[in-house]
Amino acid sequence: MSAQKIIIAIDGYSSCGKSTLAKELAAKLKYSYIDSGAMYRAITLYFLRHHIDYSDHGKVIDAIANINISFVYNDQTLNSDIHLNDEDVAPYIRDMIVSEKVSEVAAIREVRSFAVAQQKRMGRKKAIVMDGRDIGTAVFPEAELKLFMTADPEVRVMRRFKEMYETNPRVTIDEVRHNLELRDYIDSTREESPLHQATDAILLDNSSLTRDEQLEIVLNWVKEKTPNPAYK
Ligand code: C5P
Repeated sequence: MSAQKIIIAIDGYSSCGKSTLAKELAAKLKYSYIDSGAMYRAITLYFLRHHIDYSDHGKVIDAIANINISFVYNDQTLNSDIHLNDEDVAPYIRDMIVSEKVSEVAAIREVRSFAVAQQKRMGRKKAIVMDGRDIGTAVFPEAELKLFMTADPEVRVMRRFKEMYETNPRVTIDEVRHNLELRDYIDSTREESPLHQATDAILLDNSSLTRDEQLEIVLNWVKEKTPNPAYK
């Protein structure tokens, strides 16, 4: 019997550690990992660089026609780098200037249909872990395992602050807190696929879990959803 492959959808608030868990799961299961937030960030970067007035739907549609997003496997990091029109934009998409605008851009219907269509194509062969805000509700409502992650807001702020501080020592804790609160608010109140827990998603609060504990818990859930897993 060939090993069964599933789709793992991980949603949740900003900086809950979704991508850390998703990467670890993908490595363990030999699945692909797709950071859907990176796609919205790359689109935002394009809009900022090209001064696109994204309140104008016509301009958004024209701009999207010139955007090509791909994920390119990197042998060194063992992860996929996001490319925007063949440029590796990973070093720029987490800048505060992008973080400040990404939720506004991600709330635009045309932007979402463009990103979601590509995300659905990437899941055709299953064996994928994707994290974001609408993966279990809109992108893969059929996913075999859905997680909704949450963590104490201050734990999230400090995690994000430490991550950002490494590349930008001028960032402040207040700036990070304000950005997380704003994004969570826009993401959960927008009209187009707002962030909410899918009825069949498992809630995972990792405020007081170590990475190893979290991974072990989730791998057990993966086993339950995969009768003949591709790993031991
Ligand atoms: O995951 P990350 O925090 O990098 O995502 C950046 C932003 O992209 C989110 O705050 C949200 O506005 C948007 N996003 C989204 N849907 C997804 C993933 C991200 O709207 N599936």
